[in-house]
Amino acid sequence: MAKEKNNESWEYAPSLESTAHIQLKEKYDLFIDGKWVKPKSGKYFKSINPANEEVLAEVAHANESDVNLAVKAARKAYTNVWSKMAPTERAKYIYRIARLMHERAREFAVIETLDAGKTIRESRDVDVPLACNHFFYYAGWADKLEYAFPNRKFESLGVAGQIIPWNFPLLMAAWKIAPALATGNTVVLKPAETTPLTALKLAEIIEESGLPAGVVNIVTGYGDTGAAIVNHPDVNKIAFTGSTAVGKIIQKSIAGTHKKATLELGGKSANIIFDDAPIDQAVEGIVNGIFFNQGHVCCAGSRLFVQENVADKVIRKLKQRMESLYVGNPLDKNTDIGAINSKEQLEVINKFIQIGKNEGAEMYQTKCNLPKKGYYCSPTIFTNVAQSNVIAQEEIFGPVLTVQTFRTVDEVIQKANNSPYGLAAGVWTDKGSRIFNLTTKLRAGVVWANTYNKFDPTSPFGGYKESGFGREGGMHGLSGYVKLND
Ligand code: NAP
Ligand code: MG
Repeated sequence: MAKEKNNESWEYAPSLESTAHIQLKEKYDLFIDGKWVKPKSGKYFKSINPANEEVLAEVAHANESDVNLAVKAARKAYTNVWSKMAPTERAKYIYRIARLMHERAREFAVIETLDAGKTIRESRDVDVPLACNHFFYYAGWADKLEYAFPNRKFESLGVAGQIIPWNFPLLMAAWKIAPALATGNTVVLKPAETTPLTALKLAEIIEESGLPAGVVNIVTGYGDTGAAIVNHPDVNKIAFTGSTAVGKIIQKSIAGTHKKATLELGGKSANIIFDDAPIDQAVEGIVNGIFFNQGHVCCAGSRLFVQENVADKVIRKLKQRMESLYVGNPLDKNTDIGAINSKEQLEVINKFIQIGKNEGAEMYQTKCNLPKKGYYCSPTIFTNVAQSNVIAQEEIFGPVLTVQTFRTVDEVIQKANNSPYGLAAGVWTDKGSRIFNLTTKLRAGVVWANTYNKFDPTSPFGGYKESGFGREGGMHGLSGYVKLND
């Protein structure tokens, strides 16, 4: 495939990851009770590659009856098998899933890139290894739960309904499934409609692992499929990652029911650069914070706060660095910024860029030639941004950064916290005491110091305020899947 000329000063020879080794079926049914079953709805939808708009596969659209079958299978498996199984045996299955995923890591990475538009570098080096590590990590907890909840009596909840977004499809499935299984629950999981394929590949691995039928069920579909899971009376727990708008709908639907919930929602995270920060590293951190994964990151560092006396320098270096970013085919190993996940999301991002211009902020976009087919967006920053501007308040979920300046620590804490969200933040400074001061005062679930967007299965993740509640990852991630009795 000929590579589009992207940038005047940077031109690499193409270095495409091979797709020869991957296996995709033309049509995927639902994975219910350990079998592939045709949807009762009779309907299928297409999952496309957002990098070139080509159809990758057809995928079943589960309706209420399909979800009902999946929940029944999960309940049966919970009652008859999984809740009774010795924890050491449960651990072996989870470990086996991790091993199988690891063995097929390249296939997972390529399929993730094809289906989601994210760069192969990210899916290969971030998404897939982290997904494997979550299974490995929680396999280790399965027979040690009494150490996670010392001196407490605990029991599993039952059937967990899990609904995930399109920005980290396999990783979000791992975040949800691994702790649920480790604590003895069974699962009905729905991936996002634009990125169902790695969850379906995961179902193949689960089948291969010999996990008892019904312990994990994967139902694909749209928002109505998700709503059917949320509203099913025999589901004990809803684990949702997605937008704050849908999170609010879910919270209303389950109010007054016995269902337990964890909601991991949107963000508008602050990345704060002090004048004593290592500027070159900080610029890398800014780029990583907002342009990584096309800005499709709930904890993206989408609001940059730079101390006034270094603002010109930081912005100049940032613009220089942006000019070297390569936007294009996500399968190319040189690509820094891949495809926007869908046409709809590209429209949302472009709408916000227009709003930013209308609000009078100053836009800077890199001068790269975007591929003609597929959905792409050049990295974009806005300076001269006011705190009240829509682009500084609302989640854009694309490679768009707002830049504001500050003079004092108190001012930046006030500005950073002035958001309905509270998911993450970054602090760049040479002073350890300042880092500790800010970590206690920033209302954000995660605060990175002199780095950004670093994840590890041992570390809990989750938000304050409209970014949701509950924690995933680490020992804390187990709590959402147990009932503590005393
Ligand atoms: P979304 O529109 O809320 O969708 C998330 C999931 O919910 C999808 O599977 C979606 O199905 C499903 N859904 C839609 N309407 C539903 C309903 N009424 N009831 C039940 N399920 C429903 O979010 P998204 O656009 O996919 O993802 C982007 C959002 O996720 C961003 O706001 C981002 O910040 C957030 N996010 C948060 C975290 C975190 O850990 N805090 C992590 C990743 C992403 P369809 O795909 O068919 O619409
Ligand atoms: Mg797709």
